[in-house]
Amino acid sequence: MKDVAIIGAGPAGLSAALYAARAGLSVQVFDAMGGGGQLTEIAEVENYIGVGRVTGQGLAASCLAEARTAGAEIVTKNVKRVEKNGLFFSLLCDKERYEARTVILANGARPRRLGVNGEQALLGRGVSYCALCDGRFFGGKSVAVVGGGNGAFAEALYLSRIAATVHIVHRSKQFRGERSVLARLEAMPNVVFHTNRTVGAIRGDERVETLILKDTDTGKTEALRVEGVFIAIGREPQNAPFATLFPLDEQGYVITDERCACATDGLFAAGDTRVKVLRQISTAVADGANAAESARRYLERRAFVPLGKK
Ligand code: NAP
Repeated sequence: MKDVAIIGAGPAGLSAALYAARAGLSVQVFDAMGGGGQLTEIAEVENYIGVGRVTGQGLAASCLAEARTAGAEIVTKNVKRVEKNGLFFSLLCDKERYEARTVILANGARPRRLGVNGEQALLGRGVSYCALCDGRFFGGKSVAVVGGGNGAFAEALYLSRIAATVHIVHRSKQFRGERSVLARLEAMPNVVFHTNRTVGAIRGDERVETLILKDTDTGKTEALRVEGVFIAIGREPQNAPFATLFPLDEQGYVITDERCACATDGLFAAGDTRVKVLRQISTAVADGANAAESARRYLERRAFVPLGKK
């Protein structure tokens, strides 16, 4: 039994782990990927105040090290379900079952799928959701990035230093991403914009060969020859397995109050997984601190004696 079990070791989960462990609580953080979350997929972080321009992987490693030093234990397992047994919670992994007095859900969100023909079949064979992970396979080649937000911009910037040509395909003329980054991309000779275009299909026998684009004004289709396509059209939560305990909104995000508390006593949610306006590293980290403090107060109100870090 632990005082706090945290599901997800991204910035929200690790911030919660740091605060909870420093408050003298015993903490286990579950993450099948070992930790870092979305940070591990970001080449450069430029808007997290106080650290300047850092690599996502460097920031992830620092967050993990700090949470561990404070006393949090990282468990590299996937939590499949959470059950409530009286006052306590069980976390069910593949075979093992773990017990905790409180649970903080910080499982983030996964890349949204386009849902077109070829996307699944050519995954890992030219289709990717992470330029930092897969961009190196496209040196000197022609690639496309689908999307018009900061995520797509970050992918395109990273790829523009590796690929021969980066085609940005966006379904409208308006971009959600920051203007300053858009200006940088527009100034790059190897970045080509295709606005008002949707992707109808991704084609190729063994690997990606062409994207079928549709002009949203005229309805005309065209084939764009690329060897890779990076899909960056936002993220969506993966909360269905937790829906019985964590109330969700219609989009699947966890509904919490200002303190990151859910309707079920002892359960909290932090970071991208919960209903909120702005999903950034800074807001995830703030949520983690809030959720950990709310969990601590919850345990105090019930006069639970902290179980200690061992
Ligand atoms: P986002 O800001 O929600 O942008 C998603 C983009 O994908 C939008 O341009 C949207 O088009 C498009 N899109 C959505 N569904 C689509 C579909 N089915 N087909 C075609 N296009 C579709 O998501 P994000 O760029 O991942 O950013 C999420 C948050 O993280 C934001 O707050 C962002 O500032 C922050 N952020 C992310 C990164 C990163 O690396 N992921 C970096 C910096 C900041 P419409 O505009 O037409 O709706």
